[in-house]
Amino acid sequence: MFVLEDTGEGKGPLWKRLISQSMTTPEALPESFEIDAAGLQDVVARYPMRINPYYLSLIKTKGDPIYRQCIPDPQEVIDQRGFDDPLNEEGHSPVPGLTHRYPDRVLFLVSSRCAVYCRFCNRKRKVGRSSMVTGESIREGLSYIRSHREIRDILLSGGDPLLLENKELYHILTEIRSVPHVEIIRIGTRVPCTLPQRVTPQLAAVLRKFHPLYILTHFNHPDEITPDASLACKRLADAGIPLGCQTVLLKGVNDDLPVIKQLMHKLLSIRVRPYYLFQSDLAKATSHFWTPLRKGLEIMAGLQGYTSGLCLPHFAIDLPGGGGKVSLLPQYVEGVDGDGLLIRNYLGGEHRYPLYEELELNGRWPKKGEKL
Ligand SMILES: *Cc1c(COP(=O)(O)O)cnc(C)c1O
Ligand code: SF4
Repeated sequence: MFVLEDTGEGKGPLWKRLISQSMTTPEALPESFEIDAAGLQDVVARYPMRINPYYLSLIKTKGDPIYRQCIPDPQEVIDQRGFDDPLNEEGHSPVPGLTHRYPDRVLFLVSSRCAVYCRFCNRKRKVGRSSMVTGESIREGLSYIRSHREIRDILLSGGDPLLLENKELYHILTEIRSVPHVEIIRIGTRVPCTLPQRVTPQLAAVLRKFHPLYILTHFNHPDEITPDASLACKRLADAGIPLGCQTVLLKGVNDDLPVIKQLMHKLLSIRVRPYYLFQSDLAKATSHFWTPLRKGLEIMAGLQGYTSGLCLPHFAIDLPGGGGKVSLLPQYVEGVDGDGLLIRNYLGGEHRYPLYEELELNGRWPKKGEKL
């Protein structure tokens, strides 16, 4: 069992010791996993491995949903389908490490390291490499933000921004906050899930100086919601930080309605509001996680109405090539029938919504049976 409180044994804060005790080679993995370490050399040479002792402790059995997210799989080098940069982040990158795809907001990479290297990561081509983020790329990114007045929202990402030291984070956040046109700062981080010990009272005290600041975290399975994760989220929420969650739909991990429903309920109980449920990106070396598009829609249809709207994420695909995120919805509208619009509710029953003149969309609702 892990506890968040630091016992003070050894040197430095607990989270750094957990990082330094991480498993980074297949040989280091527990014998009970019966890993063919030699067979995984190619995989870890291409895509780095890191599993810290906390996240490892969440694995109950070989092949379970936690195991699948962090243990390298031979499939990663066998199936060559998919894209190195599935969202074409580099194509929309005016300076290295910053992607400006949407009119009013940017994605800004400020760290190359993560507490665990997730096998499904869509940036697996570059996470864990020191060339991913440099002092120079951060300076250039800040200068780009300063000179583009249309940017009102910054999403910090990486790697994991919360693996930076408090003072490095403080510096970057101070620079961003000094830009008058930046309204919102968001931090995308998996640390509350994969290394909750990082969320110390000191970290929360740093972050709360930079409001309005949001954290978008990333839980994929109910087993990740432990007392430690819960305390980490409490510290952040008590510092006034609204918390959202970006879950990825992953085969063999959470491609199942009861699992997602329980995850959404547990997230709300630790004060995290579901934000996105992503279709897995078509990144190279991740095809063993891909799920049918129908699956995500089925899951959404099984949540909507059956549980609170607070539990509903947006089910989104991020278009390959850089078209951005698009939310997909189960189809509830059947079409116009006379002076009413026929809509099915969550239970499948057909309901009539009277179409008074004011309610028509330019008189162009399709007839029942026609496509919207
Ligand atoms: C996801 C993303 C954002 C943020 O999108 P929201 O829908 O506002 O959360 C911004 N820029 C890039 C490049 C992204 O991929
Ligand atoms: S924490 Fe995020 S960026 Fe890091 S490996 Fe996992 S998915 Fe990728």
